[in-house]
Amino acid sequence: MKSSWPVIVVGAGPAGALCACSLARAGLSVLLLEKTHFPREKPCGGGLTPKAAALLPFSFQSVVEGEVKRAILCLPGVEALEINWDRPVCFLVRREILDTHLAEQARQAGAFLREGEEVVRIEETGEAVTVTTAGGASYRAQLVIGADGALSRVARLVGRPYPRHFALAAALIPPPAWAEKRDTILIDLEALPYGYGWVFPKIDHLNAGVGSFAATRELRFYWENFLRRNGLARPFRLRAHPLALAGKETELGRGRVMLLGDAAGLVDPLTGEGLYAAFRSAELAARAILEKGVGERAVSRYRELVKASLLREYHFAYRLARLFYRFLPLIARYFSSRPEKIRYFWEFLFFGGYAELFRRVGARYWEKLLCGYLN
Ligand SMILES: Cc1cc2nc3c(=O)[nH]c(=O)nc-3n(C[C@H](O)[C@H](O)[C@H](O)COP(=O)(O)OP(=O)(O)OC[C@H]3O[C@@H](n4cnc5c(N)ncnc54)[C@H](O)[C@@H]3O)c2cc1C
Repeated sequence: MKSSWPVIVVGAGPAGALCACSLARAGLSVLLLEKTHFPREKPCGGGLTPKAAALLPFSFQSVVEGEVKRAILCLPGVEALEINWDRPVCFLVRREILDTHLAEQARQAGAFLREGEEVVRIEETGEAVTVTTAGGASYRAQLVIGADGALSRVARLVGRPYPRHFALAAALIPPPAWAEKRDTILIDLEALPYGYGWVFPKIDHLNAGVGSFAATRELRFYWENFLRRNGLARPFRLRAHPLALAGKETELGRGRVMLLGDAAGLVDPLTGEGLYAAFRSAELAARAILEKGVGERAVSRYRELVKASLLREYHFAYRLARLFYRFLPLIARYFSSRPEKIRYFWEFLFFGGYAELFRRVGARYWEKLLCGYLN
């Protein structure tokens, strides 16, 4: 016989674990199905911004491997810039450790976490959704939350296409020049067109990768050049993964199915940051369910909440990204003599987000300028 649950969350990554944790804390019975066993790897730079970290309702300091206070920024046609802060502007984590911590928080809050359960089929049947796993187990739920990442099976059910953009990340043994730089990151906007390369130091390795915001087949070629130019050795682990960028293909769910984080396609189209949206969508999903109960009304409410906040911000970010990457050489020349302006912009993105940027510089002015230019 199938066991029945009010809510089943598919995928115990950052979005799924946080949503399950919030619902369980509110007293709901939640089944959290995860195909792997923790600790498991996830290709990621592991840059956790303060605005993302602020959404965690529990301590995360035990998983932080570094705090960024300096960035080396490579821009086309100008000298590399060094930007310093007197407070951390980003936390560096390893995803296998962060994600294990998040899943553990969900479990401690009372969510039923089942590892090694890969969901292979989801069927909506009237008042319920049936979820079947690779091992042949079947569960019924009044609501299913798809938090199963960029290649989400749940998203296929509601017709979201596979993402077209990719990023590559690798773990490297740090060369001597990087040995003492645990508070420094490198962002290289010359590494590839419409994207960037990064180096994020961790306790025992460097995480170096490239991500593209234009569909390219040559990511590996750019990534090898990026390593060579920055004097970095070959990796001991290289992984590629889709970047589920927010845009026309974003899908938040329908019927009794909600999509969160990468499954919904909510990665920031300017920076590639995905943890903030994973946490924020988890928070909004939990809020919608607690307001409207487990059913279709919660899904509609969730769509409203995400559209009014995250998607509004990312609509702006998408337009900004198109301008930014297209006119990068001009922008580089402007910023090269004004590093304090980069510092200012960076703080908006990492602390307050685009909403804060809107508020400070006047949403109307920016929207008019950008929409007017692109339409
Ligand atoms: C190379 C790279 C670098 C990045 N760097 C950064 C960065 O530095 N900072 C940042 O903020 N973002 C970064 N991102 C984006 C970030 O990794 C994602 O946005 C984030 O992981 C999304 O979290 P999620 O919970 O939605 O999905 P995921 O983290 O992908 O979690 C999905 C979970 O679902 C499980 N799952 C999948 N399918 C099934 C199934 N069928 N049944 C059950 N379980 C399933 C998976 O095992 C996984 O545990 C990067 C992305 C890439 C590709």
